[in-house]
Amino acid sequence: RTEPSDVLVFFGATGDLARKMIFPSLYGMVVADELHVPVVGVAFSQWGIDDLRRRARESVEAAVPEVDEDALERLLGLLRYVDGDYRDAATFDALKESVGDAHRPVHYLAIPPVMFATVVEGLARAGLNRHARVVVEKPFGRDLASAQELDAVVREAFPEESVFRIDHYLGKEEIMNLLYFRFANSFLEPVWNRQHVASVQITIAEDFGVQGRGSFYESAGALRDVLENHMLQIVALLAMEPPAYQGYGAVHEAKANVFRAIRPLTRNDIVRGQFEGYRDEPGVARGSDVETFAAVRLFIDSWRWAGVPWYLRTGKNMPVTAHEVVVEFKKPPQALFDDAMMAQHPNHLRFRLKPDPEIALGARVKTPGEEFVGEQRELVAATGDTAAREPYERLLGDAIQGDRALFTSEDSVEAAWRVVDAILTDHAPAIRYAPGTWGPTEADTLIGADGPWHDPSLRDSNGRK
Ligand code: NAP
Repeated sequence: RTEPSDVLVFFGATGDLARKMIFPSLYGMVVADELHVPVVGVAFSQWGIDDLRRRARESVEAAVPEVDEDALERLLGLLRYVDGDYRDAATFDALKESVGDAHRPVHYLAIPPVMFATVVEGLARAGLNRHARVVVEKPFGRDLASAQELDAVVREAFPEESVFRIDHYLGKEEIMNLLYFRFANSFLEPVWNRQHVASVQITIAEDFGVQGRGSFYESAGALRDVLENHMLQIVALLAMEPPAYQGYGAVHEAKANVFRAIRPLTRNDIVRGQFEGYRDEPGVARGSDVETFAAVRLFIDSWRWAGVPWYLRTGKNMPVTAHEVVVEFKKPPQALFDDAMMAQHPNHLRFRLKPDPEIALGARVKTPGEEFVGEQRELVAATGDTAAREPYERLLGDAIQGDRALFTSEDSVEAAWRVVDAILTDHAPAIRYAPGTWGPTEADTLIGADGPWHDPSLRDSNGRK
């Protein structure tokens, strides 16, 4: 069924995500003339519609430099509000009334994960699951077992094709470009395999700490917060086979196959770190062993990637904020030149995702002079920070339209948890590291002879920093 939804039901409209991201995104959709359905907020703040409108206005004004007053008024005009506890059946009766004549709702659950089951069951009891879609915010569980439980609850009320698991990372321009760059070009495919690729490195680094969200972070850690979702999604986009046909099903299948082929990680594949001072953060346990840094080595047991190590690292309080992928190609089979640097990998493809997205091909070029020595240069295509839209604008618009291309499937979610499930609990204690460094030196030991780790703060030898 690809008929557009005729009402957006917004559970959690008074919450933090709503304030920071969702109201500005809904406003953006109105500006783009893409939101015409009523938006029914549901929460438990003992608010009325005027309070919700005030919140929406404040949050748009805080996010948008020059607000188009007409568009904002149009958004406020679309809003409705239902106040009530999700645990109370009367809330869903009131919701039914507020939804009125609309009969193809999309329910967006921007609520704490512990409330997912309650809301899904409440919707089903009130018959609000009929002809409906449901958009589920991440996290999709906190390990394999809880993801399976969540899927079972959702499946009771909604068929899989009506479930939209939102990971806003997948709606980002630079992530979509990974898929585009791989399959819109023909030069890549012949070398995109174990014959030519020596190793792959992916870094997601932040130069800040937990920013007051210590109690949230205590229940997550780097593995759950970044590695299991964002990083494995990047791996899947880079490692997947070409989709067999055009359309969302083929991409989902190809990505899920990558997760299935990744060898489940064990304690020897991971280095966990914790920045000094983390335990003094508000909301953090004094003896906390939660990791703020993780580096892993993984292998994909497929025809294409057998034996190629993939190194992933993510951390807080790193020297820079950068998201980067470096694919290192093998050395030439023979050293024809007396060039000491030839000992290193001469060629790489670098995807800078953040900041300043760009794609660069690293190659050696002869330095002028009599000797056959050269230097590493990069051919750079800066894709730039476009005036790209907030991922949520696109994703909520897609959910209303019923387009599932940028959402994750049940299969993928469970297969991705399977990769990390064992190391969530079976691991050595987190190793302290000083803020502003690249984490414990054990991460260098992990990468060993395939290293060193690329330093995203040193761009290349083209003279740029
Ligand atoms: P939040 O600030 O705690 O908001 C929770 C919302 O749920 C509030 O509107 C709250 O209403 C409502 N709620 C909770 N229990 C309820 C109940 N029993 N009955 C009625 N309403 C109830 O949470 P959040 O930070 O916005 O996060 C929401 C979801 O988005 C979570 O799944 C989170 O993992 C995900 N997410 C958040 C962020 C972020 O930056 N915040 C980023 C990515 C994903 P009242 O306050 O009115 O009671």
